[in-house]
Amino acid sequence: MDYEAILKEIQEEIKPYLEQGKVADYIPALGRVNPNQFAMSLQLFDGTTFGVGDVDTKFSIQSISKVFTFTLALDLYEKTLHERVGIEPSGNPFNSLVQLEYEKGIPRNPFINAGAIVVTDMLVSGYHDKTFERIVDFIRNVSDNRALSHDKEVADSEAAYGYRNMSLINMMKSFGNIQNDIADVMAVYFQQCSISMSAHELSRAMLFLANHGVDPITQKRYISASQAKKLSSLMLTCGHYDASGDFAFKVGLPGKSGVGGGIVAIVPNLMSLCVWSPRLNARGNSLAGTKALELFTTKTELSIF
Ligand code: GLN
Repeated sequence: MDYEAILKEIQEEIKPYLEQGKVADYIPALGRVNPNQFAMSLQLFDGTTFGVGDVDTKFSIQSISKVFTFTLALDLYEKTLHERVGIEPSGNPFNSLVQLEYEKGIPRNPFINAGAIVVTDMLVSGYHDKTFERIVDFIRNVSDNRALSHDKEVADSEAAYGYRNMSLINMMKSFGNIQNDIADVMAVYFQQCSISMSAHELSRAMLFLANHGVDPITQKRYISASQAKKLSSLMLTCGHYDASGDFAFKVGLPGKSGVGGGIVAIVPNLMSLCVWSPRLNARGNSLAGTKALELFTTKTELSIF
């Protein structure tokens, strides 16, 4: 298949969408990004990479970090994870508090904020003050790139304006579902969200998942095939908050978005993808990015269905 030509077509066709939607501005550090940027990167198992647009521009990975932290937690706590966080779509916005009280502090899934905060708490129980280093180290390993780091200004800004996230963790702590000091957990959570990566770096980082847990280039196994199945299934059903159904319907691939405008997706057994465009739709997912992935699976017929 001529991926280069397909990506160029997509880049043309999404142009009208680049002006639509709104950049996340709940923290000043994210609101300052040039809003009309677009990148799409695709990586095959032999290391061949295709890309259009600003594929080397770094952006804040935000909730895409939830895929990496959940991968680590799945490995550390596979048997007990379900006691702390569910595996069902929430049908609610990523930072919603409502359901959490009804459901006694057990978040619906690890890809909404509450669920990801529990996952970070579990990692802090396992890795203590080395937690953030372990997370970054894992991302460096799966991306085969030692040069990754986080943006301290974004992390500080998240902490300064983190009222909603602090409510979530306090509510969960009141139900006994947070074991560590709230400040310690949130420091790690805000830092993991502020990790900066480019579209090329993120598509590289997802290859192990497209290949059932083994990096197809380095041949390193990170998780079992069964764990990779669980992770990919959750991305399909919960990767886009209350728009997960919409994304599955239009794109038909496991994917995960972040409010920085990035979306990662995998075509099992074949490739990993990342799109980035900072303007978001009403549910907090990249508007042009979602459209680009929809065009991709429509043109290539590479959805999993
Ligand atoms: N840092 C963001 C938050 O916690 C991440 C949310 C997201 O990407 N949807 O609010």
